[in-house]
Amino acid sequence: MDTALPAHLLWTWTFVALLVASLLLRGWLYARQIRHVARHRNQVPAAFAPHVSAEQHAKAAAYTIDKTRLALTEAVWSAAILVGWTLLGGLDRLNQALLRWLGDGLPQQVALVGAFFAIGALLELPLAWWRTFRLEAAHGFNQMTPGLWVADGLKGAAVAAALGLPLAALVLWLYDAAGPTWWLWAWLAWMAFNTTLLLLYPRVIAPLFNRFEPLADAHLRERVESLLARCGFRAAGVYVMDGSRRSAHANAYFTGFGPAKRVVLFDTLLQRLEAAQIDAVLAHELGHAHHRHVLKRLVWMGLGSGAALALLGWLSQQLWFYFGLGVTPSLTGSNAALALLLFGMVLPLAGVFVAPLFSALSRRDEYQADRYAVQQTGPSALAGALLTLYRDNASTLTPDPWFVRFFYSHPPAADRLARLGPVREPA
Ligand SMILES: [Zn+2]
Repeated sequence: MDTALPAHLLWTWTFVALLVASLLLRGWLYARQIRHVARHRNQVPAAFAPHVSAEQHAKAAAYTIDKTRLALTEAVWSAAILVGWTLLGGLDRLNQALLRWLGDGLPQQVALVGAFFAIGALLELPLAWWRTFRLEAAHGFNQMTPGLWVADGLKGAAVAAALGLPLAALVLWLYDAAGPTWWLWAWLAWMAFNTTLLLLYPRVIAPLFNRFEPLADAHLRERVESLLARCGFRAAGVYVMDGSRRSAHANAYFTGFGPAKRVVLFDTLLQRLEAAQIDAVLAHELGHAHHRHVLKRLVWMGLGSGAALALLGWLSQQLWFYFGLGVTPSLTGSNAALALLLFGMVLPLAGVFVAPLFSALSRRDEYQADRYAVQQTGPSALAGALLTLYRDNASTLTPDPWFVRFFYSHPPAADRLARLGPVREPA
């Protein structure tokens, strides 16, 4: 172990530097956003003045600032949890305790992964509760009862265990059974899992949490069906989801691929928009499908996870990787679970540094979908819909440009509407 000592210290310091840098960068971006929004809270941007009142603008600012403060708290809390698991020895102690209880072998490995996620979920509960019953409630968006919140949590945990534990068991088994190329097999399992999830999600998982009903309004359905036919999407189902059970936020999304593809409109969206605007939102979602954004994302994710697993395949063989993060690996038994968990904790630290790239790609997709919607339904219906949605969801109209670059998956309202031309008064 003498030769491993300097390497593991170097790795500890690299980890600490990465953690501090990512936290500082996040903190700087969140602080910028809070300052920028606060500075512009009393002045509705000229382009929006006819549509958004001073009161609505100030409300959006207050909501955005509170949301950003919570995000900052969450970042600090996650960093503390990460240090607790690693340098303070949390994961090592959990691993040793389970080894004493279950001995060496696959059941211990699976139990370690299960216990790690269960403890992590419990540690995140207080802030999740705060988000729903303090933040969202204070700004008039929460419509969830504590009973529903608890039921959601239990159902979510059951689904995660039912899907996650077999996948974990398979990957952990491969680590020992498949030799040095285990990561390639693990990658194949991971891709198969994701593809299955994408097919199962709309039909099996999402209905556990919400009711989905085919669009009932005959007039609206006729419009929607003619739009689907025009766009060549006869096969896609259009469903209305009871989003109002949980939140007043309005939204729409496109999910799945192949026979499982469907468009989901929140009931809150139908309450707020006129028929032509609903068409425009739907056309935007079809734009995502037309440009195959779901499939492209799956391919990118596949390449990224392949590279990550190859890296993990190498790291899992290095003793310094474990010692440097406060964990004593087994020299005789398997370290698969430890390697997976440590890697899964360290890798997200890189997230904030690559965020600008992924956010830019996502915003490009949104512009593409907007262009498609404009071709199908014209610019003014989409502009009217977006204006109503940005306003009623209390999205700030004056975000900090650097914050946008890093974290905005959708273009800010001003940029998005500017590309659509002059805006008609929404209903
Ligand atoms: Zn979109």
